[in-house]
This record gives sequence, C-alpha cells and structure tokens, in this order.
Amino acid sequence: MADPAILVVNAGSSSIKYAAFRHDDSPDPVILGKGQIEGLGTRPRFVGKNEHGEVLGQNEWPAEGFGHAEAMAFLIDWLEHNEADIHVVAAGHRVVHGGLLYSRPVQLTDAVMAELRQFEPLAPLHQPHNLAAIRALAEQFPDLPQVGCFDTAFHRTMPEVAQLFAIPYAMTGQGIRRYGFHGLSYEYIARRLPEFAPDASRVVVAHLGNGVSMCAIHDGHSVESSMGFTAVDGLPMGTRTGALDPGLLLYLIQSQGWDAGRVEKLLYKDSGLLGVSQVSNDMRVLLASREEGARRAVELFCYAIARHLGALAAVLGGIDALVFTAGIGENAAPIREDVLRRAAWLGIRLDAAANRAGGPRLTTADSPVSAWVIPTNEEKMIAIHTRDLLAAA
Ligand code: AMP
Repeated sequence: MADPAILVVNAGSSSIKYAAFRHDDSPDPVILGKGQIEGLGTRPRFVGKNEHGEVLGQNEWPAEGFGHAEAMAFLIDWLEHNEADIHVVAAGHRVVHGGLLYSRPVQLTDAVMAELRQFEPLAPLHQPHNLAAIRALAEQFPDLPQVGCFDTAFHRTMPEVAQLFAIPYAMTGQGIRRYGFHGLSYEYIARRLPEFAPDASRVVVAHLGNGVSMCAIHDGHSVESSMGFTAVDGLPMGTRTGALDPGLLLYLIQSQGWDAGRVEKLLYKDSGLLGVSQVSNDMRVLLASREEGARRAVELFCYAIARHLGALAAVLGGIDALVFTAGIGENAAPIREDVLRRAAWLGIRLDAAANRAGGPRLTTADSPVSAWVIPTNEEKMIAIHTRDLLAAA
C-alpha cells in the first residue's frame, strides 16, 4: 500500500524545494523524504533524499524546455514511483505574501489565485514563482487539493500601530504598510515553545538564517516584527542590507546616478554579511576567518540583533524568554554567546557551557529570563496546516 503523503513545496525563481510528510492525524507529521530541483533556467538538476538524508535519486536536464511545470510533474512522478511508495494526496505551498486578506492558510482555488496574483508587485522576487508552481500542479493534477501558507499570515495579529509607516495615511490604505515575514517559522516556534518554557508569555524569537528577522510574540501571537513592507527591512542578512536610512537611497539615485536595478542589487545581493566582510555570506566561513572584514561583519551582526532585541523587549514591556532558530541561530554558538552577553541587562544569565553544547537551554537555572535554541521547521508547519485545513473542509 502506498503511503498517503502531503507534498510541501517552496518554489523560488531558480529552485523548488520539497518535503513529503505522511498524511495522518498524528500531532507531529512524520517526514518521508525531501529534496530539491535547482538551477531552473541554467542547469536544472534534482536531488531526492529519504527521511534519513540518504540520496535516493538524482537527475539533470538541459535548461531549454524545463521550467516550473516540468519540475512539478517530474517531482510527483518521482515521488510516486521511486521514493518509498508515496501517493501524494495534497500539496501545501509556502507563499510569501498573503497581503491583508489572508491571516491563515487557505485552499487554493482559482479565485484565491487571482487575489494572490495582485500581491506579486509586493514580493516580485518570490510571489510569481510561488504561484507558478501552484498553477503547474493545478493544470496537471486538477483534483489534487492545494493549500497556500503565507509568510505574512502569522503577523496579522500585530496591532495597527505596528503595521503603520509614518507616511500619508491614504498610502497605508493602498497596502503600503508593515507586513512582517518568516511567519511560518515563528508560528512553529510559538507552537513548540510551551514544551521548553511553559510559563513564558513575552517572547522574542530570532530567526537567524540566510534571511534574518526577529519577532516579538505575546501569548503565542505576533505583536511586532523587524521586517516590514518587504523582506529586506530590519537586520543585516547574508546578502541583504536590513534597515537603511532611506535618504541614503535618494543620495545614490540623485547624486550618484544609480538606477533602480543597481539599487535593488545593493539591497538584496551585495550587502549584509557578504558586503561588510568582503569575505562571504556564510556565517561558518566568517567565524573561521581571520580577515578583519569577517570580524567586522560578525560584530555588526551581533550588535544589530542586540539593538533590535532592545526594541522588541520594549514593545513587550520586558521579556520572559529569548529563542534562537534557523541555520545561524541553531548552530553558531559564538553568535548566540555574543548576543546573550549583550542582553545581560534584560536579566539573561548565560550558561556558556550549555550554549557551546547547543542547548536547548542556554541560561543558568536561576536566570530571570531564559534563552533557548529551538530548531525551526517551516515545512512541517505547512504540512500541519495543509492537513488541518483539508480535514476541516
Ligand atoms: P538557513 O537559511 O536557515 O538555512 O541558514 C543558513 C545560514 O546558517 C548560513 O549563513 C550558514 O552559514 C549558517 N550556518 C549553518 N550551519 C552553521 C554552523 N554550524 N555554524 C555557523 N553558521 C551556520
């Protein structure tokens, strides 16, 4: 008997990441396999792995004639025929933008897709590709239920004041407001946190991966995010700037003759850890490097986290717990140690040995505020939402 499975899809411009979860009603869906197709448009190639991370299949195609549609068809066929006998019964998609309309996951009908297309200008680097994968599946497998899970949805509980920019209010009505991102990660952490810190009501979560943001959570609900209108705001990231003085962009455009394309490249590709260090966007490389640039980038990174932590703690009126997650947050003990030392004023007493050992608790037993490492799992969050939404339907 083939295992019924939920296919979780995270489709970008040049890559499609997937994970398959067993479709049952256990609170914690079991992963059956994961992998990706990368190099769409240049050198499409596939790696599929089982639940233990062992490679089960690889493939390559010429770039011509192999796009999102071909990739999705290949994936379903491969899962059903090569991977441990999986039968895909539903697909759950990571969709970056749900605008103000979607504060929870939604089944992807034609009408919903038409709404989601309207948000493409708000996230041009991600939304069109998220939707392309959904359309490809809908055309080839019209009976397959599909669910959209939004990076913005978890933050729709932010109070209005936290969603405002100080611009003419009519522009807010046109959708120019602070949305927040990484919501699926924060939602997963909020769900797991009671296992670690059952009494923590005011919590800051630092999602430190290639993308970096922080979120203030009050009683399980987002009340503030370091990211705003787009996923470039807030903290320095692998190659993204984080918050900039907007006057700097005017200076570049008006006095230095920069055009929009050049500004976009500065904001998204040339900056962050890579730009400051001139060494790498990879925190592993920076921590192992003796270059002055690497030291400078790491210092700026930790300083920015500590600065945002202060702001988010102010929003919450103090904190009960701080959580680190994503690639850097889960693995880079020196970064956590630096941030935790800067946060001593909040009542955080670092347990340096526990931090070096990877936690999960990073603070001493008598620390007034606790700090934790909790691995995030956005794919699992999508699988849970997809299953729950279909069960309710
Ligand atoms: P993510 O986007 O969550 O996959 O995180 C990617 C980031 O995590 C990259 O900057 C990696 O350098 C970083 N990372 C992964 N493993 C480690 C590690 N062991 N030490 C430091 N950074 C790490």
